[in-house]
Amino acid sequence: MSVFVLGSINLDAVARVDDLPRPGETVAGISLELFPGGKGANQAVAAARFGAPTRLMGAVGREDSGPSLKAKLAGYGVQVSDVAELPSIPTGQAHVWVSSSGENMIVVTSGANATLSPQHVAATPLEGQRVLLCQLETPAPAIEALFRAGVAKGALRILNAAPALPQGAALFPLTDILILNQTELATYARLDHEPSRLEEVSRVARKLMSRPDQTVIVTLGSAGVATVRRDEAFLVEGRKVKAVDTTGAGDCFCGALAACLSTGMDLRDAVEHANAAAALSVQKPGAAPSMPSRREVEQILA
Ligand code: ATP
Repeated sequence: MSVFVLGSINLDAVARVDDLPRPGETVAGISLELFPGGKGANQAVAAARFGAPTRLMGAVGREDSGPSLKAKLAGYGVQVSDVAELPSIPTGQAHVWVSSSGENMIVVTSGANATLSPQHVAATPLEGQRVLLCQLETPAPAIEALFRAGVAKGALRILNAAPALPQGAALFPLTDILILNQTELATYARLDHEPSRLEEVSRVARKLMSRPDQTVIVTLGSAGVATVRRDEAFLVEGRKVKAVDTTGAGDCFCGALAACLSTGMDLRDAVEHANAAAALSVQKPGAAPSMPSRREVEQILA
């Protein structure tokens, strides 16, 4: 059974500098590295690396890095035939500057990602797609169209409502599993602090539910994951590891969870597997290159 991801595809350009530039200043970069990125692409790679047949729907520019990004994603096992290559529009990009003291500045331009529309979704057959997985780096009307089409096909709809955006909340009623980190939970619930204890996380998460059969999963960084349903809540503790680079940990969690659920795995087992996958991912640099295989995850859970 397969995972269908609708989401963003970016070129991440990471420049290292001694000190971040001030407005109007030019500084020399120490190095520049280019990676595939975007939450949609990262989550699709995580699901594919975990062994689920995974289709990614998205859009890139035709004249720049788009075709090579598609080829890279295909190399990770992601089916990219639903990724449109568009003329006269740039591929989405994230420009990241990191100083030697570890501070960063990031500018994301959505480029082709912003063109995804309900028309693209309507033109895409969804037969056999057991799990639909979206984030908020592509336009909400396309996600809404996908979730509405998915419910008719009996698919499980997972929304990673990141980054936290006002239009995200309108999609919650169409969602079966909502995944948030602590900051996003606080933003959607309009809190002035980030809940961390299971009791408060569950109370706040339940306020975001609009149907009794919904699940809210809150990732808690190194503390693990809280899973909240109307009448139960449980914590899966974070695994004790030496984190090298947490970029993409949340994406790894979402992709691995979708892959597990697409095989019919029970929710608690799936959360345990995804928590272990994310813990493995923080031990390696980069996002896509750090996504573990199902075998690596099962080895540490054994
Ligand atoms: P990011 O934006 O860095 O991708 P996020 O803020 O979306 O991440 P987090 O809650 O920080 O999400 O992390 C997602 C999951 O990754 C956690 O629930 C946990 O399973 C795992 N994780 C993250 N950091 C660590 C860590 N230091 N040690 C072990 N597991 C971790």
